Amino acid sequence: MTERIGVIGGGIVGIAIARALTQRGEGEVTVLEKERRLAMHQTGRNSGVVHAGLYYAPGSLKARLCAIGRELTREFCAEKNLPYREVGKLVVAATDADRAALAVIEDRSITNGVPDLRRVNGSELREIEPHAAGVAALHSPHTAAVDYAAITEAMADDVRRGGGTILLGAEVTGIRQEPGGVRVVTPTADLHFDRLIVCAGLHSDVVARFVGASASPKILPFRGEYWELDPARQHLVRGMIYPVPDPRFPFLGVHFTRGVYDDVHVGPNAVPALAREGYSWGRISAKDTWASLSWPGAATLAREHWRMGVKEVTASVLKRVYFEDARRFVPELEMKDLTRKTAAGVRAQAWDSSGALLDDFAVDQVGAVTLLRNAPSPAATSSMAIADYLLDNYVFARR
Ligand SMILES: Cc1cc2nc3c(=O)[nH]c(=O)nc-3n(C[C@H](O)[C@H](O)[C@H](O)COP(=O)(O)OP(=O)(O)OC[C@H]3O[C@@H](n4cnc5c(N)ncnc54)[C@H](O)[C@@H]3O)c2cc1C
Repeated sequence: MTERIGVIGGGIVGIAIARALTQRGEGEVTVLEKERRLAMHQTGRNSGVVHAGLYYAPGSLKARLCAIGRELTREFCAEKNLPYREVGKLVVAATDADRAALAVIEDRSITNGVPDLRRVNGSELREIEPHAAGVAALHSPHTAAVDYAAITEAMADDVRRGGGTILLGAEVTGIRQEPGGVRVVTPTADLHFDRLIVCAGLHSDVVARFVGASASPKILPFRGEYWELDPARQHLVRGMIYPVPDPRFPFLGVHFTRGVYDDVHVGPNAVPALAREGYSWGRISAKDTWASLSWPGAATLAREHWRMGVKEVTASVLKRVYFEDARRFVPELEMKDLTRKTAAGVRAQAWDSSGALLDDFAVDQVGAVTLLRNAPSPAATSSMAIADYLLDNYVFARR
């Protein structure tokens, strides 16, 4: 009998999984997405970077799946005639104090097989990015810019052509494990599946609770805000200019990104969002905020990262502070060059009950349900590799 397989979440990961299922001829596939459009949350609100895999701990899922996902994304864009621009990236040591951390990233990049990575000195750096400043940098020429929402739509077309169904406006409000499968409840229908895969991004912990999975890890929403660079000043940035990230924090720091449509953005920062879909300070959910504040690990996280938190929140509300941070890497930048704040994104960052932010991708299996519990950056880059990994190691592992 044909198996019925449900996928919750119409972001890039859920759609990549649905596509892999239809391509493998695995049963009847149905995607449930609560919004009226695909890619409305993290997938449509990110930096659009195809990461080359510089930072990730060797052997981690992030390191392995980013390398495979990058290649699959490049091939997919070529096949579908979608834009894919290898604008290249510099990770810049602003001062000598950053050199040691840069060396760690270089070692990781070599182990991770980042293609054609090169360490450059201050003057070589300016041959690549004439307006950037720093004492040394790593240059990754194959880091690319793409449009992840367009990639998701193109993959969704493949799902439909392969016989799959995508239901929009279908919010899952309950899940019941039953003998021989799973019952999924939406406001308008009850659906039965033999297997279910959950890629619900900012709501992945909420949906995990529907199936009785552990409360930990939970999602801590972190907003990333971007400023747009004045078109008349976009010549200041040729490709991508990144700082050396703080290794205690899973975010990459405010960077300059030339996007696939030639726009240049500065960001994202990382401030705690006051709602799961809190795209500005004005969007507040008392329930989400209380859930974060009352989490057992909250005091530990606050104690360890309060300095970083104060700095990020200050930069969010005071443009000058954000600007001064960015100007360290492009000294010709003027405050008026940052013209307006553009669509922010909220990262679904998982943390556990000890207060630790989970670094790697995380998956749980509860009966017939596979739960993707942590899929932050570079999950967009890695989406097609995550799909194969989940299907082979969880969904169909016990066949
Ligand atoms: C600011 C920012 C910058 C980033 N930059 C990059 C980058 O440059 N490169 C990179 O590789 N990654 C980047 N990322 C990370 C990347 O965007 C995410 O890892 C990726 O999009 C995760 O995809 P997803 O499908 O898991 O989640 P999402 O895109 O968030 O999709 C989850 C979907 O589930 C749906 N959903 C939730 N609950 C339910 C429910 N109950 N019923 C039905 N549907 C539900 C949501 O509506 C949503 O559409 C960035 C993220 C952010 C926020």
